[in-house]
Amino acid sequence: MSRFFSQKYSALEAYVPGEQPRDMKYIKLNTNESPFPPSKKTEEAVLAEAKKLNLYSDPESYELTSLTAELFGVGYDEILMTNGSDEILNFAFMAFCDSEHGIAFPDITYGFYPVFAALNGIPCKEIPLKDDFTVCPDDYVGIPENVVIANPNAPTGICLPLSEIERIVASDKNRVVIIDEAYVDFGAESAIGLIKKYDNLLVTGTFSKSRSLAGGRLGFGIGSEELIRDLKTVKYSTNPYNVNRMTSAAGIAAVRDNEYYMQNARTVIKNRAYTEEALRSLGFNVLESSANFVFAESPDISGEELYLSLKKKGILVRHFNKKRIENFNRITIGTLDEMKAFVRAVEEILKEKRK
Ligand code: PMP
Repeated sequence: MSRFFSQKYSALEAYVPGEQPRDMKYIKLNTNESPFPPSKKTEEAVLAEAKKLNLYSDPESYELTSLTAELFGVGYDEILMTNGSDEILNFAFMAFCDSEHGIAFPDITYGFYPVFAALNGIPCKEIPLKDDFTVCPDDYVGIPENVVIANPNAPTGICLPLSEIERIVASDKNRVVIIDEAYVDFGAESAIGLIKKYDNLLVTGTFSKSRSLAGGRLGFGIGSEELIRDLKTVKYSTNPYNVNRMTSAAGIAAVRDNEYYMQNARTVIKNRAYTEEALRSLGFNVLESSANFVFAESPDISGEELYLSLKKKGILVRHFNKKRIENFNRITIGTLDEMKAFVRAVEEILKEKRK
């Protein structure tokens, strides 16, 4: 830390992204990316846009915003496009939380929530998941804090039914409930349809997972016009050109090519079923996933040892050194060939261990 670093950040523990090693080529099952490239039309749109990089992007992302609003059946003023969904989440923490309006979220969830809270001086209430790693909706009813819940949750992959989400949102209309739907296309029900009924609901989403644009950085928030107006105030006070030209072009093409991406999501769901079944037949406890990853533990090998042994064999998964989940690994679902290679490697590791 330099002697110039602001005191207010001196205790800040930054978010640690999944590793991106350069030492060899890995089968990457560690950061929940799509294994499928963007569609041809998406790629062409980006290449064509490169010629215009001398010009700033449209601060409103007019065409992208209109098309995405139409895709999700909401109005133009009910959506804000951002630089990944990390940005809309940070904007929401900045806009709706402060030292007096804290935020509640599960103890095991997306690791960026406590970081955004610490960055913005917001008190957090971490609510333990139940023993089976599900969210207990009642825990979020009758508390004064704003709420953020990933649905499906990460890294567990478990989703809450929409009726339970609605119960949390409806229970107190004087606080904001953020539903982070980064993984919704892999099996959960979206809460977007509820935004017209509840002006305290913000739904966030991303093009990083089912739409193959993790490297493009494109996310969005959907909520009442008032919430979106507040979020725009934060955006225009931080980074008006937050969605760059190439990403905007990619997003427009991706919305137009929606069926290509939804077909890929269905393939991921099939590959997930294959992986779950294979792991269970090897004795693993695999949580019920509605996401593009599975969270699994073996009675025969620790989470860390499995992670390290897989890495030696050129396969990267995500291991979290965190209480309650240190025996698990989170495995992103890739192509069927990748998942077969993963299962083969796990079989070999378990066999070597039993010798
Ligand atoms: N929410 C959750 C639950 C996530 O796992 C992630 C991805 N790491 C994000 C949001 C952010 O994704 P992005 O910024 O790529 O949209």
